[in-house]
Amino acid sequence: MERIFLSSPHMSGKEQSYIEYAFDTNWIAPLGPNVDGFEREIADYVQLKDAAATSSGTAALHLALELLDVQKDDVVFCSTLTFIASANPILYMNATPVFIDSEEKTWNMSPNALEKALKDAKQNGKMPKAVIIVNLYGQSAMMDELIALCDEFGVPIVEDAAESLGAYYKGKPSGSFGKYGVFSFNGNKIITTSGGGMLVSNDVESLKHARFLATQARDTAVHYQHSMMGYNYRLSNILAGVGRAQLEVLDERVKARRAVFNRYVEAFGGVEGIDFMPELENTYGNRWLTTLTLNPEKIKTTPYELIEALGKVNIEARPVWKPLHLQPLFKGSAFYTNSDDNVVSERLFKQGICLPSGSNLTLEQQQRVIDKVIEVFGVEKPASSLKLNN
Ligand SMILES: *Cc1c(COP(=O)(O)O)cnc(C)c1O
Repeated sequence: MERIFLSSPHMSGKEQSYIEYAFDTNWIAPLGPNVDGFEREIADYVQLKDAAATSSGTAALHLALELLDVQKDDVVFCSTLTFIASANPILYMNATPVFIDSEEKTWNMSPNALEKALKDAKQNGKMPKAVIIVNLYGQSAMMDELIALCDEFGVPIVEDAAESLGAYYKGKPSGSFGKYGVFSFNGNKIITTSGGGMLVSNDVESLKHARFLATQARDTAVHYQHSMMGYNYRLSNILAGVGRAQLEVLDERVKARRAVFNRYVEAFGGVEGIDFMPELENTYGNRWLTTLTLNPEKIKTTPYELIEALGKVNIEARPVWKPLHLQPLFKGSAFYTNSDDNVVSERLFKQGICLPSGSNLTLEQQQRVIDKVIEVFGVEKPASSLKLNN
């Protein structure tokens, strides 16, 4: 049986012409017209003044922390329920991460927990240099509340929008809310360049500095002169070409992923104990991955059993991200919970599962997934009780 992936690359067919353009102009380098074009087009898409293309989303996050002058032993706050790449750059800076729990409405950073953490930081006289807010699985965090807190305490936001390109919060593009926003074009993301990233901001001067740092921090001189430590973090002109073609179909990809989500909801949204990741009012998620939780009081099957059953018929499914405060790497790190009796991120990790969600998933493939899930739950095709938003 053919394998069904969680999220596989979905090329549009237009990529080759941009790659040819790179070859025709011989810009086979981490600079060139596709890089310039891709930067301009992403900046336009997210309605910001500038964008700097990087070799990965992780590199863009690292540069954001550099631009915010994070120093050894500084503190950086970060959402706990996320992929490791959100926090690794904190370690690159020899800084100390403090992890913030999720809330129930978006699964993202809890304003309650953030407020507690900021108040403690103020009391201890050690404010964080930045707050990294993640938009999980394409769902925007509670930005109004989080921004109000960060403004009150004067801490800049880095928006990790690696999973949420194409999503909107109250009509504004995801990734455009922080001092810096970060996107990823890794192979599993909603659009891909195989590997790549983007740092976005309205601060044009600081993005100039980001490009300087990303090209080995080479001073203006005929000879190779350096007075600062730099990185080799720029995006290839060939890959930027792939990105330009992918960006042309981004909105279609979002629609396709939302349709995948809606079909899952129609198929088993009515089963008691299954809860799909909610969509916050006035937001439009890209539904990068369809994620849901299984309530153990109502459903005997655990996420791990479901993942195993799907794996046996060659369908890839995954648990929800393991919270970073539970990772061995971050043992002993400070962590602020949503409330004393509700550690939301841990519950989501224990109960959550991600289903195949690619924009190139065919109806037949998705039916295979649905049939297997329904078989595992041992229920007749249940009607959905959820209201769908298209
Ligand atoms: C993918 C991802 C990243 C990292 O992007 P890369 O391009 O793989 O380096 C960062 N944060 C989150 C939340 C991600 O999902």
